[in-house]
Amino acid sequence: MRIKEYVKPATLEDAYRVLHKGGNNVILAGCTLLRTRNVDIDIAIDLSRLGLRYITVTEKQIEMGAMTTLRDMEVHAELSMLFSGILPKTVQFGSVQLRNMATVGATAYCRFGLSDSLTALVSLEAEVSFFRAGKVKLAQFLEQGMPNDILEKIIIPLDTSVAAFQAVRKAYNDFALLNTAVAQNGSGLKIVIGARPGRPKVAVSASQYLTQSNFTENDISKAAALAAGELSFSDDMAGSGEYRRLICEKIVRQAVKEVLR
Ligand SMILES: Cc1cc2nc3c(=O)[nH]c(=O)nc-3n(C[C@H](O)[C@H](O)[C@H](O)COP(=O)(O)OP(=O)(O)OC[C@H]3O[C@@H](n4cnc5c(N)ncnc54)[C@H](O)[C@@H]3O)c2cc1C
Repeated sequence: MRIKEYVKPATLEDAYRVLHKGGNNVILAGCTLLRTRNVDIDIAIDLSRLGLRYITVTEKQIEMGAMTTLRDMEVHAELSMLFSGILPKTVQFGSVQLRNMATVGATAYCRFGLSDSLTALVSLEAEVSFFRAGKVKLAQFLEQGMPNDILEKIIIPLDTSVAAFQAVRKAYNDFALLNTAVAQNGSGLKIVIGARPGRPKVAVSASQYLTQSNFTENDISKAAALAAGELSFSDDMAGSGEYRRLICEKIVRQAVKEVLR
């Protein structure tokens, strides 16, 4: 990454204006990904002066500013008590040093398919809030992307009572071969599968079936089979799509049982 000009705006308006000034102008967050890219940046826009590093828990929702680091999420006392503690679990990759830099806003903005935290956030029906475009469901944003905008915060409703996260990986620090998050709120259960290796997706039929079922052993197995059948799985260096489909049933069953326990 080579930077011609560096700015540290005091307002989101200024940051957005510079972003759209013309040229290859790029937002800087923790720079863990950017520094690995061979890019020429005309104006680098550092967001660190905008007060976007916070986690606020209100009566109805959690708001996480885009510059909140993954380490902030990992050690936040209230987050570890909410949603059966799945969020801190999903950001424990790499080193503490890396997690002290990588931000939650960039993680969402990059729409990284292998991310554990995005799978969990989709199951919790999180929204992403952009400076110009406003709020959109994270699941929708992961599907469609967004024109050049600044992600300001992530909002998680506090509706979920219980949740579970499961992943299969070859070694502790590897990306998941497949992950799943299952969450229960007043409207039912939601099963989300990620690292397929595509972006996390809701298994809609499986979630509906499970919600309307009696939660017997057979119902759970049928929901897991539906999830494995309705989503697509692909090959990558870590494993084949076929293998992912096979382990999908198993980890969905485990996660559902954890939620219903
Ligand atoms: C060695 C290594 C291992 C990793 N392992 C994992 C893993 O196991 N699981 C996982 O989920 N992730 C993993 N990651 C990815 C990690 O989560 C990303 O590095 C992180 O999400 C990027 O955060 P950052 O703040 O450093 O972003 P940056 O590098 O600063 O930015 C990344 C991109 O996002 C844009 N951007 C940043 N913030 C905003 C914003 N608020 N609005 C709009 N655009 C923005 C930037 O312009 C840039 O294009 C790994 C990364 C590394 C380097």
